[in-house]
Amino acid sequence: MFELNETHRMLRKTCRDFAEKELKPVAALLDQKHQYPTEAIKKLGELGMMGIFVPEKWGGAGLDVLSYAIAMEEVSSGCASCGVIMSVNNSLFCDPIVKYGSDDLKKQYVVPFARGEKLGCFALSEPGNGSDAAAAKTTAVKDGDNYVINGTKAWITNGYEADAVIVFATTDAKAGHKGITAFVVPMHSDGLSLGKKEDKLGIRASSTCNLIFEEYRISKKNILGEEGYGFKIAMSTLDGGRIGIAGQALGIAKAAFEAAVAYAKERTAFGQPLVKLQAIQMKIADMALRIESARLLTWQAACLKDRGESYTKVAAMAKLAASETATFVTHQAMQIFGGNGYVTEYPVERHYRDARITEIYEGTSEVQRLVIAQNAMKELM
Ligand SMILES: Cc1cc2nc3c(=O)[nH]c(=O)nc-3n(C[C@H](O)[C@H](O)[C@H](O)COP(=O)(O)OP(=O)(O)OC[C@H]3O[C@@H](n4cnc5c(N)ncnc54)[C@H](O)[C@@H]3O)c2cc1C
Repeated sequence: MFELNETHRMLRKTCRDFAEKELKPVAALLDQKHQYPTEAIKKLGELGMMGIFVPEKWGGAGLDVLSYAIAMEEVSSGCASCGVIMSVNNSLFCDPIVKYGSDDLKKQYVVPFARGEKLGCFALSEPGNGSDAAAAKTTAVKDGDNYVINGTKAWITNGYEADAVIVFATTDAKAGHKGITAFVVPMHSDGLSLGKKEDKLGIRASSTCNLIFEEYRISKKNILGEEGYGFKIAMSTLDGGRIGIAGQALGIAKAAFEAAVAYAKERTAFGQPLVKLQAIQMKIADMALRIESARLLTWQAACLKDRGESYTKVAAMAKLAASETATFVTHQAMQIFGGNGYVTEYPVERHYRDARITEIYEGTSEVQRLVIAQNAMKELM
């Protein structure tokens, strides 16, 4: 089982203070303006939060995955958009390059990214397929020592600000999912353009857009792992990413919970504060129970990853439990706020909107259930 050591406790406090002082005061405005949190991300980079579990050798903070889960929760409690920007850079961009990239790729595409000087993104989904990632239509055709990429990637978080992207493309259509290859490529190059910024329900301070590849040429040196390894890389990367999204969901839930309890202490109805009403206490109990349970699963998944043990099932459980908790807790928080919960003067309507995406990206709740069922059944064989 896990145990928080002194480093974890200090990190938690640092991130909590940062969220209180630097993120909470600006989160609503950034959300309202759909504005990328440039300053906050710069400061998070300075704190080492853009490459938390990247080894120091490659520009990271060299902490463990449990630290990452803790930081994701605290940062996301202040600003869920900052949480997803940080999560994509940490687990979907830096982590697979550390794991599968050549030293040259690590020097160029991990060091400045883990330091927070540059930003990465991850392009797996397409307009015609998300859950069914193996059905990717984007192609990469070999041409001497280069590949030529054509196709459109959809819903790419950080698309507008990123300096580089890991893109998945089919190099051998006959080989099915074994014909998909991952490339690490620069964003600002001929042959790559951005679609419109998506107008989203939540996490509105982060950008999401299509990436359109047209005759985009890239050296074979930019292949991550080997040709045909892309699907495996994508799936193992998402396993780790789910720990980050679980942390993000927990942060959203925690922020809504704390706001709801504070409000229920102040607000009176029928001559007493809301917290004195047992109906409200039942809600508070259910919210606290679900947050605590989801946090245990999230930390457990992080510890399994830290110990090099299999964590696919527990990461899916953590992501499912935490995202459904965020949906539940933000719903209950709005209920406790009554009419005030429905307007932008209070933060819970934003938490309610932000929570919803955590059940969709990096594998929907349905996909998490499939992963859990498949792995749980395998364990019985
Ligand atoms: C804001 C945002 C940011 C995103 N960021 C990124 C990113 O950075 N990079 C990236 O690559 N992608 C990103 N995505 C894409 C995201 O991962 C996909 O939207 C998600 O995987 C679902 O795919 P889909 O939208 O194509 O839905 P579909 O796959 O079409 O699914 C539709 C519905 O069918 C269900 N379903 C599908 N297959 C099954 C099945 N086998 N069994 C049961 N139910 C099933 C799904 O659960 C869902 O309810 C992002 C999406 C959003 C909205």
